[in-house]
Amino acid sequence: MKCFLKYSKFCDFPIENLPYGVFTSPGKPIPRIGVAIADYILDLNEVSHLFNGPELKNYQHVFKEQTLNRLMGLTPKAWKEARETIQSILSAANPILKNDETLCSKAFTSQSEATMHLPAHIGDYTDFYSSIHHATNVGIMFRSKENALMPNWKHLPVAYHGRASSIVISGTPIRRPNGQTLVADGTDPVFGPSKLMDFELEMAFFVGGANKLGEPIKIEKAEDHIFGFVLMNDWSARDIQKWEYVPLGPFLAKNLGTTISPWVVTTFALEPFKTDNFPQDPQPLPYLRHSDKCNYDINLQVDITPKDGNVSTTICRSNFKYLYWTPKQQLAHHTITGCKMNPGDLLGSGTISGETSDSFGSMLELAWKGTKPLTLLDGSQRKFLQDGDTITMKAVCEGDEYNIGFGTCVGTLLPSIKL
Ligand code: CA
Repeated sequence: MKCFLKYSKFCDFPIENLPYGVFTSPGKPIPRIGVAIADYILDLNEVSHLFNGPELKNYQHVFKEQTLNRLMGLTPKAWKEARETIQSILSAANPILKNDETLCSKAFTSQSEATMHLPAHIGDYTDFYSSIHHATNVGIMFRSKENALMPNWKHLPVAYHGRASSIVISGTPIRRPNGQTLVADGTDPVFGPSKLMDFELEMAFFVGGANKLGEPIKIEKAEDHIFGFVLMNDWSARDIQKWEYVPLGPFLAKNLGTTISPWVVTTFALEPFKTDNFPQDPQPLPYLRHSDKCNYDINLQVDITPKDGNVSTTICRSNFKYLYWTPKQQLAHHTITGCKMNPGDLLGSGTISGETSDSFGSMLELAWKGTKPLTLLDGSQRKFLQDGDTITMKAVCEGDEYNIGFGTCVGTLLPSIKL
C-alpha cells in the first residue's frame, strides 16, 4: 500500500492510519469531515461521490455531515469499506485523485491551516476507572495498602456517568474551578479556587451503532460497537473531589472540562497493534468473559510546559496496555442493564498508569499526593498544576514499517474566575 503523498516513516498519519476528524479552514467556515493523511486533511465532503461500494453507495451523504455521528451509526462492514475506498483513492496506483489537479486542490487542506472541532455530537459520556495501577495507587493514598482496591474492583469495571457538555477539543483552555473543599478533617469547608488541579491521562472510544433500550450489547458483539479511539485529559480538582465524592462519586471535580484529541483512530488501524489482555484474577462473571484480544500497545506520553516557558518536561510515559478491563468489557458491562448507547457516545478508560513511578498518569500519583514534588527542566517544582501550565498528551503505536499516531491532546490551565 503506497500513498501518492510523501511522508516519513515516523509520520503519525500514514495511509495505514486514516483517522477521522471534523475541521474548518480559512474561507470555508462550515465544519466538514476529513481524514488525516501525512500533513494534510482529505476533505471527504469533496470526494463523497467516490464511495461507490455496495455498503456505502446509498450512504454517501454521511460524508457530507458536520459530525461523524451518521458514519458512526453505520455497520463495521460499511466502516471497512470506507477505509478501503479512502486507501484506494490515496494510493499511488490509482489515478482518480492523484491525476485530478482540480479535485486535489479542493480536497486537500494543510493540517496547519485547519481548525479542528469535536468529531461527534457526544450525547452521553461515561468515564471508567480501569487501570489497576491507578486504582491501587489512589487506594493506597486514601485508604491503605491492604485495602487499596475496593471489594468490587476486580469484579466489574467501575465507572460514573460524566458530563458530555464539558468535553472540549484539544487546544481549548481550561479554567481552574472554584468550589468547596475541606482543608482539614473536623474543620468547616471553605470556598475558593481549587488548589489541587490535576490532569488524568486517558484514552476514550466512540460508540458505533446503537442498541435498543432494554437490550444489552453482548460481549461477543461489543467490538462491532467500537468505532475508534482518541486521547483524553480528564482534568480533575482533587480537593473538590475529596470533599464531595462520598457517597455518589465524582461530580464538580470532573465537570470543569475534559479535553479530547481531534483525530478518531479506528479499530482497523489499531488491529496490528493488538496485544494480550491484562491477566484477570479472579475470572470475571460469564457476561464479562472473552478470550480474544481487545487490548492495544499504544505508547502514551504527558508533557508539561510552564507559563511563558519554552522548556517542556516529559513527566509520564505509559501505555494503553496497562488497562485491566478491556473496552469490550466496559461496553458489555455498561449495557448489561439494557442501557441505551448511541453513535457518538464517548467512553473514557480512566487514568492509565503503569507499574513504575514514571508511568503514573496523574500529578496525584507522580508527586504522590504532594509528598514527592516533581522538578521540571526549567528548575521549577510541581505538586499539582499551576496557572498557565500547558499539558500535552501524545499517543503512538510504533510499528516496524509505520506508526499509527493520535496527534496531540493539549490544554492550558487558566486562573480561576474571581467570585
Ligand atoms: Ca477520569
